[in-house]
Amino acid sequence: MNFLSCIEAKRTGDALSPKQVRAVIAEYTAGNIADYQMSAFLMAICCRGMNPDEITALTLAMRDSGKVLKFPEDDRPIVDKHSTGGVGDKVSIALAPLLACLGFRVPMISGHGLGITGGTLDKLESIPGFTTQLTNEQIVSQVQRIGVALGGQTSEIAPADKALYALRDVTGTVTSIPLITASILSKKLAENIDALVMDVKFGKAAFMKDQEQAHGLAQSIVQLASECGVRTSALLTRMDTPLGRTAGNWLEVKEAVACLDCRGPEDLEELVSTCAAELLIQSGKSSNKTEAKQLAQEEMVSGRPRKKFDELLAAQGADIQSFNDKMTQDITAPVVREFTTSAEGFITTCDAQLVGQIVRDLGGGRLIKDSVIQPDVGIDLLIKPGEVFGRGSILARVHSMNEENADSACNRLSSAFEHADEPLPQPQLILQVI
Ligand code: URA
Repeated sequence: MNFLSCIEAKRTGDALSPKQVRAVIAEYTAGNIADYQMSAFLMAICCRGMNPDEITALTLAMRDSGKVLKFPEDDRPIVDKHSTGGVGDKVSIALAPLLACLGFRVPMISGHGLGITGGTLDKLESIPGFTTQLTNEQIVSQVQRIGVALGGQTSEIAPADKALYALRDVTGTVTSIPLITASILSKKLAENIDALVMDVKFGKAAFMKDQEQAHGLAQSIVQLASECGVRTSALLTRMDTPLGRTAGNWLEVKEAVACLDCRGPEDLEELVSTCAAELLIQSGKSSNKTEAKQLAQEEMVSGRPRKKFDELLAAQGADIQSFNDKMTQDITAPVVREFTTSAEGFITTCDAQLVGQIVRDLGGGRLIKDSVIQPDVGIDLLIKPGEVFGRGSILARVHSMNEENADSACNRLSSAFEHADEPLPQPQLILQVI
């Protein structure tokens, strides 16, 4: 195959045939295309786009680079949720056990962090002993047994996405509707799900910068998933402020567990129950959104999802004693610094992009493909827009591996917050459902 001509075709904006797209993915997965050439190809797609037939071909080729999960017949619908990525986004960790308790099967395949956005896999890997590398047989048998499994791409599930995802992360080629659509749906179609809810984020710390772009991405995903037989809806949600009060892998796991214990934070609880409600409607378990949301909230209050999370930890090899010990510790990173203020007023902005960059630079994310993630670094106690503060209030707390990084993070945090003398009306979190 002449890959150079495919790169040149995409550079000039020509369409590739489905056969060419399949060949590119097969050759790359087999290790026959070098990363430098694939990077050029991805950049050409970022700049020139792809038509719907190419996106379909790319998605299916990436799905078929591995196997599709096969589940036994069962009354419980197979569902999943996926986010296009944000800062502080720990929704999946709280949602997956909730969905299992609501009578769904949830074979959730997630990814590592991309750019400044955190990845569910990195968060889960901060849990002592927890394994995300499950074989297809393990995923299916665990889902059949306890209703939920949280894994990562492997050589069996969309391996082409695993390789491309890591390459895109370090070559500036994430922000592309065709590439994001194919990346997400290759994994979701490999799970063989009946229904999907997407959280398509837009704003400062999202890949889609405004609602219009997010709408375009949501439509691309909803349309293709629906054509492939997966009932799909998409929430368009703001990502200008971090979700919840934490950003950083372990700190976010802790916050997701607080959500499972019904201890907030409010925005996280809202997104979790709305995603659950969407799937309840799509699967015919509820007939209207208010009733569906209430059902999800009542299930959370029952305490069953929290117990299900413990079951999930045990099933995936977590060291429960170490996990419980770690949960009781307020601080697990070597250096912790409070970021305080000498001003007073009402917070109007907490810049999610800057917070995401700071967390990445503390070691919570990747700058190169082989960066080693520091699970315990990050930021917590984040003050939210609309909240009041006085002189000496803590606006955030930095968890760092060393003093130097903590100093730098605190210096940079001073640009993350804006305030006013009066509280301003707060923008809605969920803007639209498609
Ligand atoms: N999530 C994914 O799985 N892939 C992307 O490309 C972006 C977000």
